[in-house]
Amino acid sequence: MQEALSGDKKVFLETFGCQMNENDSDRILGFLKDIRYSRTYEPGKADLIIINTCSIRDKAEQKVYSALGRFKELKSWNPGLIIGVSGCVAQQQGAKLLKRAPYLDIVFGPHNIHRLKDLLDEASLKKRPVAVEQSAEIGADEYGFTLPSTKHRAFVSIMRGCDNFCAYCIVPYTRGREVSRGSAEVVEEVKRLSDEGVKEVTLLGQNVNSYGNNGGDVSFPCLLRMVAGVEGIERIKFITSHPKDISEELIYLFRDEPKLCRHIHLPVQSGSDGVLRKMGRGYTVDEYFSRVSLLRSLYPGMAITTDMIVGFPGETGADFDDTMALLDRVRFDSIFSFMYSPRPGTKAASFKEQVPFEVKSERLRILMAAQREISLERNRRLEGSTIEVVVEGASKTDVEELSGRTSCGRVVNFPAPEGERTEAGCLIDVSITHAFPNSLRGMVAERLKA
Ligand code: SF4
Repeated sequence: MQEALSGDKKVFLETFGCQMNENDSDRILGFLKDIRYSRTYEPGKADLIIINTCSIRDKAEQKVYSALGRFKELKSWNPGLIIGVSGCVAQQQGAKLLKRAPYLDIVFGPHNIHRLKDLLDEASLKKRPVAVEQSAEIGADEYGFTLPSTKHRAFVSIMRGCDNFCAYCIVPYTRGREVSRGSAEVVEEVKRLSDEGVKEVTLLGQNVNSYGNNGGDVSFPCLLRMVAGVEGIERIKFITSHPKDISEELIYLFRDEPKLCRHIHLPVQSGSDGVLRKMGRGYTVDEYFSRVSLLRSLYPGMAITTDMIVGFPGETGADFDDTMALLDRVRFDSIFSFMYSPRPGTKAASFKEQVPFEVKSERLRILMAAQREISLERNRRLEGSTIEVVVEGASKTDVEELSGRTSCGRVVNFPAPEGERTEAGCLIDVSITHAFPNSLRGMVAERLKA
């Protein structure tokens, strides 16, 4: 997370959840920078505390109240302290949060970040709490300017909301319907980030493949080409792709656009057609597999990752076997796997045939163990090869070593070469010596460029 804010007041910001939320936090910091807030990592030194919440996973509200409980005490010796809640829980709960936590000063959803300055003024001048309910329309100035999450890497929102209403998902209810951002505005933001030294951008949306369908002025592949034209940007990633909307034009762009990282995250969720139908995903297992096969046949080194949910209501043992069969067939590079848990307000929460916890838990264990073997096998194919890596900083396991990422998102740890600049953002060629299920290890082969 960035630390480049400078100003008179201090903000402590805690983020729960996904990359969209991380990006929202970066946008919050961007707006706060304009009104002279700098970031602190010590809540006791803050003039403003914001908890940016997520309700995709279980127990979201409890997490918020427990975090708020930690900060409540601070108000007793710093009465000027402003405490706020943003994100999906704020969007869902609105003023109800103020009732449960009367010491809260501001509550605002993901579409109201651009109103933060007004909310802070209102809360501090009028000395009363302020809650903003969901905006029906997304304002032209909503996106603001995201501060880079690290010096060399940044997330850029290209759209908001989602129109898909998958049966298990709360996002369309908290983030609203899908609206694309204009391509000129996206490119302008990428140019400004590049001027600040950013080399890698990740374009963000709940379903980037439908970019341009609601607002926006070009298709997603066209937007990618425009972003690739920005000088100084060396790597482009995007997340998330919905399998039903991935186009052949996008698939072939991986061949034609060298700045596009050879990695796609394509959430399949289940290997059973019956479960996919109940989830409302809009594709069959065979349709999914044909997309993945085309990608792998065109680019054998392409990394394909996915999300899997086990124990969706009504999932039988045979459905789970189908999921295991798909895992075996595709051989994903890695997966994010989850036990289904009902989100209040979603269609699936009212489905009758909820799967018992012990069954879900056992299925998750089996899935993760199988994937661990597959990830190791996929990583072992890279032993002996030389791969370009972007340095991210010190290794988490050994501060004497560096850690970086390949174009396809794999973590590579390697000893720091002596006498060379190796700050975050440098591109380095690394020869891979050992593969593990979740990372690679290597030696620097050749320094490419700073
Ligand atoms: S595509 Fe489905 S899972 Fe993804 S955000 Fe939209 S509703 Fe949720």
